[in-house]
Amino acid sequence: MTATNAEWFERAKRVVPGGVNSPVRSFRSVGGTPYFVASAEGAYVTDVEGRRYIDYVQSYGASILGHAHPAVIGAIVAAAPQGTTYGAPTEREVLLAEAIVGRIDGVEQVRLVSSGTEAVMSALRLARGATGRRKIVKFAGHYHGHSDSLLAAGGSGVANQGLSGSAGVPDAAVADTVVAPFNVLPDLDEDTAVVVVEPVAANMGLVEPEPGFLAALRRACDEHGVLLCFDEVITGFRLAYGGAEEWSGVRPDLWCFGKVIGGGLPVGAFAGSSEVMSHLAPLGPVYQAGTLSGNPLATAAGLAALEQLDRDAYRELDRIATRLADGLAQAIGGAGLAVQVPRVGPLVGLFFAEAPVRSFDDAQAAAGNGRYAAFFHAMLRRGVALAPGPYEALFPSLAHHDAIVDETVALAAEAAAEVVAMSGEA
Ligand SMILES: *Cc1c(COP(=O)(O)O)cnc(C)c1O
Repeated sequence: MTATNAEWFERAKRVVPGGVNSPVRSFRSVGGTPYFVASAEGAYVTDVEGRRYIDYVQSYGASILGHAHPAVIGAIVAAAPQGTTYGAPTEREVLLAEAIVGRIDGVEQVRLVSSGTEAVMSALRLARGATGRRKIVKFAGHYHGHSDSLLAAGGSGVANQGLSGSAGVPDAAVADTVVAPFNVLPDLDEDTAVVVVEPVAANMGLVEPEPGFLAALRRACDEHGVLLCFDEVITGFRLAYGGAEEWSGVRPDLWCFGKVIGGGLPVGAFAGSSEVMSHLAPLGPVYQAGTLSGNPLATAAGLAALEQLDRDAYRELDRIATRLADGLAQAIGGAGLAVQVPRVGPLVGLFFAEAPVRSFDDAQAAAGNGRYAAFFHAMLRRGVALAPGPYEALFPSLAHHDAIVDETVALAAEAAAEVVAMSGEA
């Protein structure tokens, strides 16, 4: 009764569109057959064929402690017998909101939702409701989930698929969405409600803001009465103890969270000052709701994860990421491939490019040369799982101990040499 990855993929494709529940998982942009995960622990995932991989996907950053961390699993196991959802408020929702408020200066109130998409969609509705303005400014290559008004020039899966938006999203839904190039101050006016930004862009590979860009954006927003929203679904509780605000010194008006704060269960959140959050129902006129919002298992997992993430944990994550980024740059560059391995805090990027990547155009040029797909497969054959698309970051976790990182680097040298040999270059 051993079924292979290929057999499961065939079976999946009969009953699930493309065989997957999120497009990037399909391997479309790298080719080949996805591995079906049977289990995961720490830095590793094991597929249905019993092959183990060093995993740098880590649920796109949700598993910052590594997979199946005992504290998180323990919290879920302890919570489950008390019931899995009630439709009434619970203590842990308060505790999780307090934990977020306690870590981030300027956050006074938090509303929990069930995904990053929901968090950003709701935050922007709130921004429009609070300002009475209609326009949203976003940056090219930044991904903010798959809500209609934000599916314009996105990164991640949207970029992977070469779509500028999506079928099924009418022009009217993006008519008030302005897409600006990252690292260039956008034009704002009295119709602009909000500027939404990934403070460190991590869905077009990893692209750091130019020095002073976020501060200049803050000033421009203030001049025009525009709210600034940090989409911290990746950077929140990863970039630093207090997220992007601590890292950049720039305080937004609205924050969106996801990934890390669920400890691997479905949680998102959006947050702001009590004043701005008071526009939200039931206090104010901006409607937002969710049957499973603040779910008891998800809040248990999220709280357990945040408890592990003290300041020492971020120092350790930085150290691990530095070891990985430096090692990969040397190993791949040493094999003769032009490579950029940017690192920002615990986030690592990987571009097969001659020069640092500063914009979505640069990122697209690097993604278009086919090197990522070749390297991805050369690594996967050696037991290292990178994200199956050139626009994703690498997510080393606290479970990526030095020996594992060093093994990754050694395998990357081999994989890069294979890519060079295949392409007949030196
Ligand atoms: C992942 C992501 C989202 C969407 O979150 P989901 O939980 O996948 O809906 C939004 N914004 C950013 C920056 C993300 O990385």
